[in-house]
Amino acid sequence: MAGIKINGLNKFYGDTQALFDVSLDIADGEFVVFVGPSGCGKSTLLRCLAGLEGVDSGSIEIGGRDVTKAEPVDRDLAMVFQSYALYPHMSVRANMEFGMKVNGLPAKERETRIAEAARILQLGEYLDRKPSQLSGGQRQRVAIGRAIVKDPKVFLFDEPLSNLDAKLRVQMRVELEGLHKQLAATMIYVTHDQVEAMTMADKIVVLNGGRVEQVGTPMELYHTPNSRFVAEFIGSPAMNVFSPKAGLTDLALNPATAFVGCRPEHFELVAPGQGHADATVTVKEQLGGESLLYLGLAGGTNVVARVDGDDATDVGQSIGLRIPPKRLHQFDSSGHALH
Ligand code: ADP
Repeated sequence: MAGIKINGLNKFYGDTQALFDVSLDIADGEFVVFVGPSGCGKSTLLRCLAGLEGVDSGSIEIGGRDVTKAEPVDRDLAMVFQSYALYPHMSVRANMEFGMKVNGLPAKERETRIAEAARILQLGEYLDRKPSQLSGGQRQRVAIGRAIVKDPKVFLFDEPLSNLDAKLRVQMRVELEGLHKQLAATMIYVTHDQVEAMTMADKIVVLNGGRVEQVGTPMELYHTPNSRFVAEFIGSPAMNVFSPKAGLTDLALNPATAFVGCRPEHFELVAPGQGHADATVTVKEQLGGESLLYLGLAGGTNVVARVDGDDATDVGQSIGLRIPPKRLHQFDSSGHALH
């Protein structure tokens, strides 16, 4: 197993710069998620790590060895793609065996590794099937199995669950977390889905326009985002970010504050006139255990509050909104958080 050090990575595609001075430390055994909107450079960073793309400057170390210029096969890592990339004419067993055969592993060792991967992934009874005879989740497991049998130092996952339906995604998420615990391997996982990032990561790397925007544990990013970008990206529904001129009163604000933020679950509903703002409920979405209240503030600002499913507040009602001081986020005019 191995830690990874990325130092000052820059990557261009022609005139387009995809990565700007990316530096990261990933500890041995860590589960790290690269997250960000489409086009932010997540896949590029992963592909540079894998050696599928060259870099223009900077360095990459895996397990203390400089691999910046090494071929993909010499980096001791295995990548699992969104598309599974299974050989359709080969059985599950042959799909897993292929890479090991190419690498000249003896038959006995190949068999042992396939048996172990099949055990971990519960694929034992499917070893003789073709990929077309498997469900999406099972195919994804075969793709992971093919990575496991390589016994790599590092696993790289590129949006591996995005082709699966919502229920299966949740199940595979739990399986991947279990796999990480069992293998104790360094895992790097790319997704645009902040829920996957929050639920699986030891450490999240938020990318924005080819730059590292923030690195932290899921709860650090949730509680102390460094920027408006991270604040609005992590958490669902997103943090409400709005101008303090939207009828806010009695809130102690930093003189540099251009925007305030409060997560939907952190507003307190009080009587009109008793909070930091008055609001009218325009829409109520009942989700069962909780409800979302869409609220209009003075000056046309709209915010969302998340309340208990039993909360009786209804459409058309006027309420007061209180922002508990420790739940208040403040940002300057360029979107930097003021802590
Ligand atoms: P993400 O994975 O976050 O969606 P990518 O890493 O795929 O983002 O892309 C980052 C940026 O690099 C985007 O602007 C994208 O258009 C550009 N890009 C990615 N791959 C190529 C390529 N092969 N040729 C040219 N530009 C590319």
